[in-house]
Order: sequence, then structure tokens, then C-alpha cells
Amino acid sequence: MEFLLQSPVFKMACQQFDETADFLTLDSSLRERTKWPKRLMCVSVPVRMDSGETKVFSGYRVQHHLALGPTKGGLRFSPNVDLGEVAALAMWMSWKCALAGLPYGGGKGGVTCNPSQLSLRELEGLTRRYTVEMLPFIGPHTDVMAPDMGTNEQTMAWMMDTYSMHVGHTDSSIVTGKPVSIGGCLGRREATGRGVAFLANRAVEILKLPANSRVIIQGFGNVGSYAAFQMAKFGYRIVGVSDAFGGLYNPNGIDAQKLWDYHQINGRVTGFPDAEKITNEELLIQECEVLIPAATEQVIHAQNAKLLKCRILAEGANGPTNLEADAILEARGDVFVIPDILCNAGGVITSYFEWVQDLQNFFWNEAEIYDRLYRTLEMTFMEVLKFSKEKKVSHRRAALALGIQKVVNAKKIRGVYP
Ligand code: GLU
Repeated sequence: MEFLLQSPVFKMACQQFDETADFLTLDSSLRERTKWPKRLMCVSVPVRMDSGETKVFSGYRVQHHLALGPTKGGLRFSPNVDLGEVAALAMWMSWKCALAGLPYGGGKGGVTCNPSQLSLRELEGLTRRYTVEMLPFIGPHTDVMAPDMGTNEQTMAWMMDTYSMHVGHTDSSIVTGKPVSIGGCLGRREATGRGVAFLANRAVEILKLPANSRVIIQGFGNVGSYAAFQMAKFGYRIVGVSDAFGGLYNPNGIDAQKLWDYHQINGRVTGFPDAEKITNEELLIQECEVLIPAATEQVIHAQNAKLLKCRILAEGANGPTNLEADAILEARGDVFVIPDILCNAGGVITSYFEWVQDLQNFFWNEAEIYDRLYRTLEMTFMEVLKFSKEKKVSHRRAALALGIQKVVNAKKIRGVYP
């Protein structure tokens, strides 16, 4: 299987797994059973374009393990996505769900495309056809998708509609992150960013950092923007923000709401009048108390890890810190890392609430949702900190070990069929 998955991100996920498996002294058979993805799907997705031609896109879905329940995880539309990246992200979803105690295996999907260059009609065609290609492999008790990079509530609405038309009745539990009007969960849109901010705020409290601590956020999509709003609400000063087009820096603080309004009109943060221009690379190494990478993988690497000037690294993205950078940060010992599978888990935890509500047709109010979300995050955070302290390992190793061990336990007790 390895030859199919030649991607730096997949290698990173495997190495993280191998090192954690060594730490847990897993025997070789459990190691193999836990590491490799159970199912890899590659599909061709023909789409009739506005020009009249038919273009064929490559679509993927990886279901990492099935030992605890359906697989769960996002679908991304991105120009660089490939099977290896999707497999790595599915693996991380496995540890993330297990760590938070959710009854899911990890899944992730992707379509190699540039969503900003597709019309709404083309995006709808792509989403619906991808869903149809995936019909034999998905279901509310088999595999449940959600938004990720380049996809959103509208994408989920098209998927839910396509699936429902095929099964002959409305089934809202087939995806999460849907619009609230068709069975979505109140607060799901904001949940990942708010969860990141909740944990970053807890870390500030634990480290006794100032109440007006400085925050830098890389990425102003669904995660970065809501993390910014929430951090501002806590009273922190957002001194830097960036997106794919470039960055902004203002040591006196950037108004998150004004930036959001500007972003809505211009489709980017660059050019915002109340801040200086800065590159993405420079932004990451500016002085701040909290750094939130909320964009993509491997943005913190061997070159910039030693230059980071933050006290807290709150990983809103999946896999933002590569292995070399991780080793550097561990050796430095002065950066409090909130690892991705914990830090951004607010999204999938709220997806779980959405799925449960849809299966029961019984809906909760927003206060109930956030009360449960914050309690789950707090408990998981404390579990990770306790494990890290007791075993004298990094927060990342602790989070991975706890997540992986839960999957291993399920596989062990269920045994091998037949
Ligand atoms: N795509 C998000 C993640 O990476 C959310 C997945 C979900 O809600 O299923 O965690």
C-alpha cells in the first residue's frame, strides 16, 4: 500500500505514529493493524464546465479505521490534494476522534481542484458527482463527511441533497457542518475557531500571561476568523493576521470585525488599511504570546522553528508543524504547544453533536452545545497535560499516545475476524 501514498505529509503522519508506537511499546501486529488505512477510494469525477467541455477531476476518500464506529472527517477542495495527503489527514482524524472520546474512526476526502476558479454551478456539479461516485462507500453509519479547506455549508447541503435523492428520503445525518435550516447544528460553523480560542485562553491562564496578550493568526478562513473573533472577545490583542495572499501586522491591534468586513468585500486580508503589510513567513516569527497557525500543513519547519517568538503555539490547522520543527520546539522547551489533534478538535466534536441530533431528530440549543463542547475540550486538555507531566513527554506525544492507545484497545478487544 505504501507505494500509493508517496507524500511528505503521509510520511510525517507515519513517522509520528511509529515514534508514538515505540513509546507505547506496541507489538508489531497491533502496530500494523492500527497504522494502515482500511479503505482508500480514488474516483474520476466528470463535470460539465460552463464552457461546454467536460473536465475530469480526481477525487479521493480514505477511511482509516472502522473499529469504533463510522469514519468521520472533512472533504477538501484544493489544487494540491492527493491520496497521500488525504490518508495522512484521515489518520490524524482517527487519533483526534479517539482522543476526544468520539465513537468514530478517521476519514478524509479530497478533490484536486481550485475552488476559487470554479463557478457556483461547476462547484455544485463537482460536489454532486463526487457524492454519487462515493455512494457505495458512505452512509450515516459508514462514513460521514464535513467541511474542510475549500468546502463549506453549501457543499454539505448539496451532498446531503444528492444522497437523500438517491436513497429516496431525507437523511440529514449523512454529513455534518450543514446549514442549520436542514439539520445543521447551531454553532458548528464557529466551533473549530472558538475551540482553538478556548484552549489558547486556558493556556494563557495556566502560564499566567497578561490579559492583553498578543495574538498572531495565520489563515483567515473558517478556523482563523472565528478564532480571531473569540480571542478579541477574551480581550486579547490581534497583532497579525494573514491569508494565502499575504499578511498584516499592527502592534497596536487589528479590529477583527473590521477586518472580516473588509475580507467579505475584497476576498482577502491584504490591503486592509489599519495595518502594515508583511509576508506570511515574517508574520510567523513576530513577537507574540499566542501564535495560531490556522491554514495548512508543515508551515512551521526546521528553518523557522528556532525563530518563533511565541509562548503558546495553538495549532488550528492539521499538521502545521513538521517533525524537525517539533524536535526543535521540544528542545527549546519555552513554547507551550497545543497540538492539532487537541487544539482543533472543537470542529469534529460539534460535528458529533450534529450527527447525534440528526439521528434522533431532537435538537439542542446553542448554550447546550457550547456547554458540552467546552466541557469535552477542558477534560481532554487536562488529560493531555496530566499524561505529559506524568510520562515526561511533549504535549503532542501525550495527545497522540492517548488517541492511538484508544484505537489499539478497541482493535485488541475486538480481535481479528475470522
Ligand atoms: N475538517 C475538520 C477537521 O479536520 C472537521 C471534521 C468533521 O467535523 O468531521 O477536523
